[in-house]
Amino acid sequence: MRTVQRSPDPFTSLAVALAEWPSLVQRVLAAHPARRSGNVCPGCSMPGGRTRISAPCGPRNVALLAQRIATRGQS
Ligand SMILES: [Zn+2]
Repeated sequence: MRTVQRSPDPFTSLAVALAEWPSLVQRVLAAHPARRSGNVCPGCSMPGGRTRISAPCGPRNVALLAQRIATRGQS
């Protein structure tokens, strides 16, 4: 098991933890696409909801960082 280092910010800490779970990273990336018609993330928006989160969204950016951390850990 890889040692998880403490990161200075919560965004990076979450990405480090998520890097241990590749199947979840793939699910987050699939649910939160980089681009979508209307540029609204379907994973962050509720049908009929008023709040519109633009793509790429925060969860996608965390998953992308986790993917990079996981790849770096394998080399
Ligand atoms: Zn999203």
